[in-house]
Amino acid sequence: MSDEQTRPEPWKQSRFSWFRCPHCGVATNRATSRTALSKQPPRVVVDYQCNSCRKVARLRRAGLTHVGLPVAIGLAMVYVAYTLPIDTGPWYSPASLAALAVLMIVELALTLIVARLTKRFDKCVD
Ligand SMILES: [Zn+2]
Repeated sequence: MSDEQTRPEPWKQSRFSWFRCPHCGVATNRATSRTALSKQPPRVVVDYQCNSCRKVARLRRAGLTHVGLPVAIGLAMVYVAYTLPIDTGPWYSPASLAALAVLMIVELALTLIVARLTKRFDKCVD
């Protein structure tokens, strides 16, 4: 790619990060990726390295799918947490902690489903 980029982070493997390799078709929820900022045009660039064939792919619309959607889901969960019509007492009561745990699981599941539905990858020749 001809984009002028900041130095990318080192490769790191993340749990709950979905990736399907456009080179060999292998899919995983434990993707190896790194993030950089492109200066021309200014945007987030996220590259994934296939754990099977070791080739590199680039996430399309990374600003939206890697940053925007997870932030939107997180904000929606905070809104839900503060508007639940449950009188559970103080935040540290067992009912409140159980509701918080359920919300965290729902947020993780939503993030994974949205990532699975929206993430698309382009072949990259680095
Ligand atoms: Zn591959």
